[in-house]
Amino acid sequence: MSTVMSIDKTLQRLKKGFWEAVEEFQLIEPGDKIMVCLSGGKDSYTMLDMFLHAQQVRKNFEIIAVNLDQKQPGFPEEVLPQYLSRLGVPFKIVERDTYSIVMEKTPEGKTMCSMCSRLRRGTLYATAEELGVTKIALGHHREDVLETFFLNLFFSGKMETMPAKYRTDDGKHVVIRPLAYCREDDIAEYALYKEFPIIPCNLCGSQENMQRKVVKKMMLDWEEKYPNRKEIMYNALKNISPSHLYDRDIFDFTQV
Ligand code: SF4
Repeated sequence: MSTVMSIDKTLQRLKKGFWEAVEEFQLIEPGDKIMVCLSGGKDSYTMLDMFLHAQQVRKNFEIIAVNLDQKQPGFPEEVLPQYLSRLGVPFKIVERDTYSIVMEKTPEGKTMCSMCSRLRRGTLYATAEELGVTKIALGHHREDVLETFFLNLFFSGKMETMPAKYRTDDGKHVVIRPLAYCREDDIAEYALYKEFPIIPCNLCGSQENMQRKVVKKMMLDWEEKYPNRKEIMYNALKNISPSHLYDRDIFDFTQV
């Protein structure tokens, strides 16, 4: 159970991480209309809270919360509209039966998450266009960023992760991750304290990607043995020496 003092510290750390990412990558700019993607998980509720807090400090941007109702059996469709109406947050619920498509198209024994995420992303981009937003905000946090880095390193042979800000390949959308510097355990503690009405993602019965679970466990074990290692690894993502790597596209070795 969180004490008042510990939750205060947790909230301070979350706000600090949020503002650091916002300032370093200019995630909020005057006149922005930001689509806050709300899945009903702890991360997205926390992200929405951070934006509401930011709106008290900066009055020059708008937000609209968007949830995709994927028509999973048992999806409690009243939860988010009630929650958002109570907060007075403008919102849109997009109803698309991606659940049936994913069930139909995923081969037996495979996890459905990658196709589900792809379809969800497509729907969110279409919604962003319809709403005329300037940015799309996703609730990925520090651990998501590190896990993705290792997944790419171990399984895709590339050094890349989820950036705090990027433009989609078609040039139409700017996607931002304002929680990229926030710790997952802080988010979990905050979500518990705030008693967010969490909607589980796996209503569809799918399992989280196995490799991601393995990487998550690897990082937890490291952190236990070598406290602060995650912080060090995260700092490494901001401290890259192209001249001491092997990618000739990012460093011109002919000039050495
Ligand atoms: S657990 Fe289910 S709803 Fe969540 S991403 Fe995977 S397939 Fe989609």
